[in-house]
Amino acid sequence: MAQYDVVIIGSGLGGLESAYILSREGYKVCVLEKNRQLGGSLQIFVRDKAIFDTGIHYIGGLDDGQNLNQCFKYFNIMDKLHLHRMDNDGFDRITFDDDETEYKHAQGYDNFVEQLSAQFPGERENLINYAKHIQEVCNYFPLYQLKQDDAPIIGTKYLDVSAKDFIASITPNLRLQNVLAGSNPLYAGDGAKTPLYVHALVVNTYIESSYKCVNGGAQIEKLLTKNIKSMGGEIRNYSEVNRIVEKDGLITHVELTTGEHVEGKHFISNIHPSTTMNLLESDKIKKAYKNRLQGLDNSSSAFIVDIVLKPGTFKFLNHNYYHYKRNNVWDSVHVHGDAWPDGYCIFVPKSSKSDLYADSFTILSYMRYDEVKMWESTFATIPHFRESRGEAYEDFKRDRAERLIHEVAKKFPEIRNCIKSYTTSSPLSYRDYIGAKDGGLYGIAKDYHDPLRTFISPKTKIPNLLFTGQNLNMHGVLGVTVGAIRTCGEFVGQNYLIGEINKA
Ligand SMILES: Cc1cc2nc3c(=O)[nH]c(=O)nc-3n(C[C@H](O)[C@H](O)[C@H](O)COP(=O)(O)OP(=O)(O)OC[C@H]3O[C@@H](n4cnc5c(N)ncnc54)[C@H](O)[C@@H]3O)c2cc1C
Repeated sequence: MAQYDVVIIGSGLGGLESAYILSREGYKVCVLEKNRQLGGSLQIFVRDKAIFDTGIHYIGGLDDGQNLNQCFKYFNIMDKLHLHRMDNDGFDRITFDDDETEYKHAQGYDNFVEQLSAQFPGERENLINYAKHIQEVCNYFPLYQLKQDDAPIIGTKYLDVSAKDFIASITPNLRLQNVLAGSNPLYAGDGAKTPLYVHALVVNTYIESSYKCVNGGAQIEKLLTKNIKSMGGEIRNYSEVNRIVEKDGLITHVELTTGEHVEGKHFISNIHPSTTMNLLESDKIKKAYKNRLQGLDNSSSAFIVDIVLKPGTFKFLNHNYYHYKRNNVWDSVHVHGDAWPDGYCIFVPKSSKSDLYADSFTILSYMRYDEVKMWESTFATIPHFRESRGEAYEDFKRDRAERLIHEVAKKFPEIRNCIKSYTTSSPLSYRDYIGAKDGGLYGIAKDYHDPLRTFISPKTKIPNLLFTGQNLNMHGVLGVTVGAIRTCGEFVGQNYLIGEINKA
């Protein structure tokens, strides 16, 4: 039986980036993925020849000199990515039912202030102040700037500040407050919980620069996979781990659903910490630690309608929409039942087939796990991954899809005539396809009331078992990349690794 230096459970972005870093540093690495497709939320799917992303609609920080660009140079993928720059003067547009205006989030801080000042005359000083503070908050997170620093990732300042309260302190203008927080589905923003640093780190990366991946984000997975293999790393699909086995205080092996054992010196879990604890058989982990991880709330889930468009009917949109029925974007995450949907996001994938027309159109709206809980004992089955959870579930999905399309048709009345077909996903789809606990979009929800409770260390109580992925640090391409740096920093030294990344 082969013994690897490092066995990684899950081939999400964090798992693949960790595999790349450690292979490059000479470790013999094996990644185990339960699905056929690698990449977790990086994966795409195709319906009627149209490509859909599951979890990467756009990426920030990719201009020369910006943090993700530098990391992607290190991963040797930057110059091979097929990217499309979004509208400079309005990559995100925030809209409301009672207002015709499309409020624009622009790229570049000066431009961001410029565009919104034009839409909110008299608010220029407040907007300058907002921009200054967002950048200042980001400066408290040195790893995000790829700065060598022995200080922990988290500065203590700003951790317990509410994003909603901060924005309210910037301007008394309620509409502007809602516009500034309008892209909060990017981090499942909840007015009662979301810390300012989460808002700041996420919006900062997109204000720096915003790109769509042409034909989807799976290209990141494909390139990383190729690079890992070229350095001798192994990546195995259809390899679901169902036990993590400890002996004398160390993990000895993981067991796959097939019964096969995979042995290693070190293990990295790229799956939810709570799920990791369920798989782990060990009395070395204190109940309090397990309970803490298992008791943490997860971010909201979503319901998604992925529409295949009839060819040549709907013009490509080089920006996203975040639309709200009410002037209260921080509460949207809680709306359910008859009041649903409170709003929606529109992402139009960029296909290489045409610059003028779109192939597909994605509508996403928050959805609580409770809404689908009655079907939670049903599972989408590997390998086909077609959902079959019964007629009542299909009726539910049809009803919710129609509600969303009805809302979107108010903005785009032509949309119904452009639809060739559509497919939907619910919180259960994300639970089963990605292994996301409660279908949560972004893993563990951060809470400014008790910020340290929701920070997960890469180290566990077992010395040769580590965590990586979106639950560790932050979600999103940049958040997960910073997480992989922290995890692999435990092997090779964080400052050394940052030095290597900056040299790339
Ligand atoms: C709807 C949606 C939209 C998003 N949009 C954006 C966006 O526009 N921009 C952005 O930057 N980020 C976005 N994100 C966030 C981003 O996609 C994620 O934060 C990131 O991809 C998560 O990476 P991860 O490393 O945590 O792994 P995950 O993607 O969570 O992958 C975990 C992997 O582990 C595998 N696995 C689970 N259990 C097992 C097991 N027992 N054995 C073996 N393998 C297992 C899973 O199959 C999966 O492949 C979005 C996310 C979602 C859900």
